[in-house]
Amino acid sequence: MTKSLWGKTQDGADVHLYTLTSGKIEVRLTDFGAHLVAVRTPDRNGKVADVVLGFDELEPYLKGGNGYQGALVGRFGNRIAKGQFVIDGVTYQIPINNGPNALHGGPVGFDRYLWKAEEVPSGVEFTHVSPDGDMGFPGTMTTKVRYTLDGNTLRLDYSATTDKPTIHNLTNHSYFNLRGDDEGDILNHVVEIFADSFTPVDAGLIPTGEIASVAGTPLDFHTPTAISARIDADFEPLKLGRGYDHNFVVNGQAGTLRPAARVTEPGSGRTLTVETTEPGVQFYSGNFLNGAFTGRHGKKYEQRTGFCLETQHFPDSPNHANFPSTVLRPGETFRSTTTFVFGVE
Ligand code: BGC
Repeated sequence: MTKSLWGKTQDGADVHLYTLTSGKIEVRLTDFGAHLVAVRTPDRNGKVADVVLGFDELEPYLKGGNGYQGALVGRFGNRIAKGQFVIDGVTYQIPINNGPNALHGGPVGFDRYLWKAEEVPSGVEFTHVSPDGDMGFPGTMTTKVRYTLDGNTLRLDYSATTDKPTIHNLTNHSYFNLRGDDEGDILNHVVEIFADSFTPVDAGLIPTGEIASVAGTPLDFHTPTAISARIDADFEPLKLGRGYDHNFVVNGQAGTLRPAARVTEPGSGRTLTVETTEPGVQFYSGNFLNGAFTGRHGKKYEQRTGFCLETQHFPDSPNHANFPSTVLRPGETFRSTTTFVFGVE
C-alpha cells in the first residue's frame, strides 16, 4: 500500500490518497469521506481501465454534489420518508434533501467528513465518529469501514457502535462501468441479480412496504440480461425510477456472505461479482446522472454512464416493521461485509 498527501480540507487538514495493488488490479481510496476513488483492472486483452466513475483531483470530492461517486454513505443510506422515524416512542426528524424525503443521511452525510485512517494488512481502515444529534440522528455512532484488496477481491468490512439507540444503513455508492469510466453508457452490461423479490416504491421512491416477486417483470434478473433489454419497458416501477433504481431482496440468509449480483461486459470481457451479508442491494442504473459534472479524462458523466450495486438494508426500514431492523443499540456491534470481485472472461 502506498499513501500520499492529496490535498487539504477547507479547515486545513491533510487529506490522503491510498493505493492498494494486487496483481494487475489497483484500487485508490481517500480518507475524505472514505471514498473509493478508482479501481483499475485489465480487460481480456490486458488493457487496463478504470471501472468506477470518479475524479483524479480531490477538489470535486471536497465540493460534493457529484451524485455520491464512490462515497461511503451514512448514517442512513437511501431514503427515509419525510426524514422521520420513531425509536422507542421518540420521533426524530432528519433534514430533508430529496423532495419531501431524506436521502443518504441528509444534506451532510458521512461522505462529507475526513475519516481517521489506519493501515491494516492488505488495506486501510477508516473510522468516523458521528456525534449525538448529527443530522438529527440520536447517539454518538462510531463507524469503521475496512477496505482490503486480496487477489481480485476488494472487500469492505463495516462495523458500527452507538451510545444511544439509533438507526444506521451503511453502503458504498460506487458507480461501475466495466467498459471503462470514459467509454460511454452501461446499457450493454449483462446483469444477473440473485433475488426473487424487490421492495416496490411510490412516486417519491419510498417503499410501500410490500415485498413483491420479480417473476414476469423487467426486474427479474435470474437469467443474465442486458440492462438495455427492458430498462425503458412500460412497467410502472421502472417509470418511477426513470430506469433501474430498486432495492432487491437478496436470496439466502442475511448475515451470511452470499452472491447478490454478477455483471458481465461483453466488449471488454470484464466481470464484477458482488457478495454481501446485507439483506438487500440497490441496483441503480445512474438515471439521474445528467452531465452536470466532469469526471476523469474531461468526460461529462451523462445519464446511465455508471451503475451502482449498493448493498444495504432496505430503504426507509425504520418506517416498515416488516423489514429487517436498522436499529442499533448501545452494547451491540453492527457488522457487515461486501465483496466486489473483478474478473475477465
Ligand atoms: C438512489 C437514487 C439516487 C442516487 C443519488 C441512489 O442510491 O437509489 O435514487 O438518485 O442514489 O446518487
